[in-house]
Amino acid sequence: MLWQGRRESENVEDERGSGGGGIGGRHIVVGGGIGGIILVIVYLLLGGDPQALLQQQQQSGSLPSSTQYEGAAPSDEASKFVAVVLADTEDAWHAIFRQIGREYQEPKLVLFSDQTRSGCGFASGASGPFYCPEDQRVYIDLGFYRLLQQRYGASGDFAQAYVIAHEVGHHVQNLLGISDRVQSMRGRVSQAEYNRLSVKLELQADFFAGVYARYADRVKHVIESGDIEEAMRAAAAVGDDRLQRSARGYAVPDSFTHGTSEQRVRWFRKGYDTGDLRQGDTFNAPDL
Ligand SMILES: [Zn+2]
Repeated sequence: MLWQGRRESENVEDERGSGGGGIGGRHIVVGGGIGGIILVIVYLLLGGDPQALLQQQQQSGSLPSSTQYEGAAPSDEASKFVAVVLADTEDAWHAIFRQIGREYQEPKLVLFSDQTRSGCGFASGASGPFYCPEDQRVYIDLGFYRLLQQRYGASGDFAQAYVIAHEVGHHVQNLLGISDRVQSMRGRVSQAEYNRLSVKLELQADFFAGVYARYADRVKHVIESGDIEEAMRAAAAVGDDRLQRSARGYAVPDSFTHGTSEQRVRWFRKGYDTGDLRQGDTFNAPDL
């Protein structure tokens, strides 16, 4: 991605080094060992329920703990990159919202290390990137990118851009009232049915990330050869089936909340190919 020297968003709030809530040291300890932490981080990339995952893991045993996860000390380059990508998403969504006669409200993006307080509660680096609809902020501990690369082989700057664009996709869903509609179904439908709605929400956020990627390519001309593949590898790396298989050896479709690797790649690709919001109605699509 061509990003150096380009506009940086003013909506980045850098809380790195501020210590967040002042709980604990730099090491994060969660049941399930280091492997468990990594899984939880990736699982939460799309807003999953960490408790459920940890319970699964305790039943199936934890993964080998070969990777240390400590609070990251990202270079300033890393935060600059985030600010440029966020600025691109702002330009893209302002343009798209104008087309549908709406006004886009920009989200804030909080960079934190180790821990932070969000409008949705306390978050540690183990929370991974997430979007909080209550305060309309995207939260990212940049240490996550290292994990995405080392553990899941999803490297490259556009893999990182995808992560931001996906979370911004949740913000778009919030502005359009889509997340509220799904949230209101909780408790009114079976858990399996609610999980299916959650998958559709996540796949739509991937679709929106694809729409952003198209804008970056066709309007900004900042996409380089291999970038789209990087984003798709990152989307595949965080599919439910792959995460579940690595956690317990087999996948249980009813428990999926984010979509399979193949589905995630497909919806990102569809957003990128069409750039058309009407094509992104995962809720009424006959086939995901
Ligand atoms: Zn998500």
